[in-house]
Amino acid sequence: MSSQGPRVVLLGKQGAGKGTQASRVAEHYAIAHLATGDVFRAAARDETPLGLQAKEYIDRGELVPDPIVIGVVREHLEDNDRQLVEAGFILDGFPRTQVQAVELDVVLEGDALDVIVNLDVPTEVVLARIAGRRVCVQCGTNYHVDSPPTEPWWCDKCGGHVVQRDDDREDAVMRRLELYEIQTLPVIQYYRRTGRLVNVPGQGDSNDVFAAVVAAIDARWELRR
Ligand SMILES: [Zn+2]
Repeated sequence: MSSQGPRVVLLGKQGAGKGTQASRVAEHYAIAHLATGDVFRAAARDETPLGLQAKEYIDRGELVPDPIVIGVVREHLEDNDRQLVEAGFILDGFPRTQVQAVELDVVLEGDALDVIVNLDVPTEVVLARIAGRRVCVQCGTNYHVDSPPTEPWWCDKCGGHVVQRDDDREDAVMRRLELYEIQTLPVIQYYRRTGRLVNVPGQGDSNDVFAAVVAAIDARWELRR
């Protein structure tokens, strides 16, 4: 019997609630929540050569090439004699391409992933969630068309104007969702082929979704323990 935690990848579209679920899973199992954005910021702050290279792409608003993404994640996982790998973790935002998925298996060697959870939410649902977002231009407080400020559309906290960000407009969201589908479909197929993918419907109550995610992880993790 091992006391170490599960090794999980959480896949899901923008707006599927992936970040929230990943945080709760990390807390539930007392494992590290590795959100790609945080890992990149840490590498840039520590000024590792790969971290600095990644930062150049991010600052230019470009996609970071696969070898650099993989290098940054590898450095992070192998830091401190792979303690993180042995203790368990949940990856959120990585792997995003099939090349990254294959390389992740190489990095982990014998310490294979236990389960890949695909948080499945229909495109029209995430589109409505994201396109309904509104934000205060002064203080950054978030609102939604379903829960507007008392005085539409002026901020309850600071009186600033509450608007839709350009990134949240329907056409911009659709472009990102299409890019996600194109990149991630091969990742999903790769994990399905190797028998490690579990599809969890991500609609409905957040607590019910969390329970389903934990059940999916426990079912696979038991096999290793
Ligand atoms: Zn405000």
